[in-house]
Amino acid sequence: MLNVENCKGCGKLVLRKPGHPFCPACAASRAKEVRRIKHYILRHPSETILDIHRNAGIPPKAIHELIREDRVQLQ
Ligand SMILES: [Zn+2]
Repeated sequence: MLNVENCKGCGKLVLRKPGHPFCPACAASRAKEVRRIKHYILRHPSETILDIHRNAGIPPKAIHELIREDRVQLQ
């Protein structure tokens, strides 16, 4: 039996790899988004999640996920 799962981004079937729930296309666009969010937070270190959402148009859920995964840190 093939060890596959649905990509968390687009739902496409991908080979299961621990810690990599995205297909290559989603992983790439997500990495780009992470860089964008990190860059924004570096330039606006005192903003809250709501500020970031309002000013940069980034969904609060995406920000929460990145914080939970320890990929970005807010003050
Ligand atoms: Zn995908």
